[in-house]
Amino acid sequence: MGRSRSKPSLKGLAQKYGGSVRKRYSRVYRVLKQKRQCPECGSLKFKRESAGIWTCNSCGFKVAGGAYDVAA
Ligand SMILES: [Zn+2]
Repeated sequence: MGRSRSKPSLKGLAQKYGGSVRKRYSRVYRVLKQKRQCPECGSLKFKRESAGIWTCNSCGFKVAGGAYDVAA
């Protein structure tokens, strides 16, 4: 029963994987750096405090949202 399993080319896979992750990261980074308006007071000091938590530095409004985008 000497069935040999063919291995996929890891080199090509790694290149593909690395590329998609880079692309996704740059998109996430851009979304993170975006200025957001606080839904409560309208100031642009609305930022992500930690993954899934968004706070307004102006009025202290806190809301749970997506890890990388408040609307996610
Ligand atoms: Zn606010």
